[in-house]
Amino acid sequence: MTSNDDGYERTNFKKKHFQFPGRSNSLRQFLLILLSISWMTSTRRDATIIAFNPARITHTSTINSLSTCNTITTNQRDVDVDVDNDESTNIIIKVPWLIIGGGIHGVHIAASLIGKGGIKATDIQIVDANESLLHKWKSRTAATGMEYLRSSAGYHLDLDEHSLRRQFGVDTGNAAVGNIKGAGRKKSKKNRKKNVSLQGITSNDVFAKDYERPRLDAFNEHCDSVITKYNLDQLHVQGIVTSIEPKEGHVKVMLSLLSEQKKNNSENEIGGMISYTYKAQNIILALGNDEPSYADWVDEKDIEQGFVRHILEDTQKRSGEKVRDHDVKDVAVLGGGITAAHKVLELVRTNDSTTRTNCSTLKRRIHLISRQPFKEQQFDTHQDWMMDQAASKRSEEGGGYGTPDRQKKFKSSTCWKERRKMIVKERVAGTVTPAIFRGEGGLCYAINNGDIKWHHAEVVKKRYIEMDMDEDENVNDNYNNIDATTKRSTQKRRIQLSLSCGNTIEVDEVLLATGFGKKLPGGKLIKDLVKNFDLEVSDFCGFPIVDENLSWGSKGIYVAGALAELEIGPSARNIAGARLAAERILKAATKTKA
Ligand SMILES: Cc1cc2nc3c(=O)[nH]c(=O)nc-3n(C[C@H](O)[C@H](O)[C@H](O)COP(=O)(O)OP(=O)(O)OC[C@H]3O[C@@H](n4cnc5c(N)ncnc54)[C@H](O)[C@@H]3O)c2cc1C
Repeated sequence: MTSNDDGYERTNFKKKHFQFPGRSNSLRQFLLILLSISWMTSTRRDATIIAFNPARITHTSTINSLSTCNTITTNQRDVDVDVDNDESTNIIIKVPWLIIGGGIHGVHIAASLIGKGGIKATDIQIVDANESLLHKWKSRTAATGMEYLRSSAGYHLDLDEHSLRRQFGVDTGNAAVGNIKGAGRKKSKKNRKKNVSLQGITSNDVFAKDYERPRLDAFNEHCDSVITKYNLDQLHVQGIVTSIEPKEGHVKVMLSLLSEQKKNNSENEIGGMISYTYKAQNIILALGNDEPSYADWVDEKDIEQGFVRHILEDTQKRSGEKVRDHDVKDVAVLGGGITAAHKVLELVRTNDSTTRTNCSTLKRRIHLISRQPFKEQQFDTHQDWMMDQAASKRSEEGGGYGTPDRQKKFKSSTCWKERRKMIVKERVAGTVTPAIFRGEGGLCYAINNGDIKWHHAEVVKKRYIEMDMDEDENVNDNYNNIDATTKRSTQKRRIQLSLSCGNTIEVDEVLLATGFGKKLPGGKLIKDLVKNFDLEVSDFCGFPIVDENLSWGSKGIYVAGALAELEIGPSARNIAGARLAAERILKAATKTKA
């Protein structure tokens, strides 16, 4: 097994096996049948070409065409399977829109292209490394223990601004709802009730009292309903994009399968080496952030042995780590922002419920280590940065201010260094909402109460210590039920942290809530694209310089999320940023269509 620059592990490619990288089993079966027939009827294997569109032609017509000439011309546009002399197979998939990244941004943009842009779903594919769309969003938010989102109910993945509120029974009255067909109609009481699917809850439970922030499970349920509404699961192909080359009239995108899929290929005794190439008229880079950022003192061994864990690290990558749940008791959370705050408060809640259920006084000791004192702020950025062009226009037409001054100032600057500085100033890292900070059961309360020991400090030294379990007066009940071998191999080791404030603490696990790195997202993939195809980036920060509609270099390449930051501004990475990006890409898409 090898580990590549993109951080995903690969097994060596096994010859003679084939599997389509899509999610649908029936589609996979269907392709296998097609390939088997073509294989059997082919006289010149080096010339076998099959072209078809599974979404638009019937099974029977395909088989009939195949049995006569091996080539289907019904719709050459979508899939060409090219079997080479040396038994390697190159599957070429032609698609008008290829979205790379099926996270918050990729999903909302796909929904917008279909729902607002009138682009057919069959003209879009979403490539994402994970087995389901929104995997990273769901696993990361779950890992923090957050109960409510930071952003309010207007920021979600559907098109109609009030869709999330409506799904959970909030009467949005006659509020402006944009131009979505059927949106804005008042629902009868009966219908409203039907829409609420989380059992036994009212809209009061679903939305926080401050800024109508949605509860995480409700938000996720709404995300799933958007995926279902636009059939986005059907457009998802699981794989990793390894290279992007702008060509005349299309963008060539190479796809690599994940090791698990490659393993499955060994069940299909059909072809030789398989490679996948997309020829896309347009691609949208919605790759997310840089990788999670680790403190300097952390090394591989700390992670492998399960003593240190970044809570935003992908669960799929964590599979090799040792599970030490039975002896994890005292925990240090490192970080000074909302993620760290969510995590310690979740640990306090778990402590409370464990002691209540077990009627025992056994509690984890919870340490919170942060370099800076906590700063209070409602949102990641000022709301002015979240206003889209349609809302600005509505405001202006209604006699309001229109585009907020912050956005105007940002747009009027043609100096990328200055824009980056505005982003850094406006997107203050390490802030927490008033509810989390001072609210009932919030951080201040838990610290004053002694549930959390807060250290205003940095870690200056780490070392492992051996500890006799008898020395620990709070020995975990579970420990007594573990067999002798496990006890010997895992007992007694703890991690000791010396802090800059002079304190020394001993814990069983350190959880990092230190956010993401600041590098250009996409790693080698984007670096190569910039280097080989002369795409413009800022000399100061290396991020893409794109036009107003987020087109990068007029080559059919669009960007979203962090990659669009120098055009969208400080909210680019957020859910609001996904809505802003979709609005602009849609403008370009409609122009292309016309
Ligand atoms: C814990 C947490 C809470 C947050 N809370 C809020 C909030 O309340 N409100 C708010 O507005 N924002 C919030 N955010 C910020 C923001 O909305 C999220 O970070 C959002 O998930 C970013 O979406 P994305 O699509 O850009 O990235 P991601 O969700 O990371 O998706 C990118 C996808 O692209 C895939 N990918 C990348 N490279 C490749 C490749 N080469 N080939 C194939 N696939 C690839 C990745 O595997 C991934 O699935 C929060 C973020 C976190 C971490």
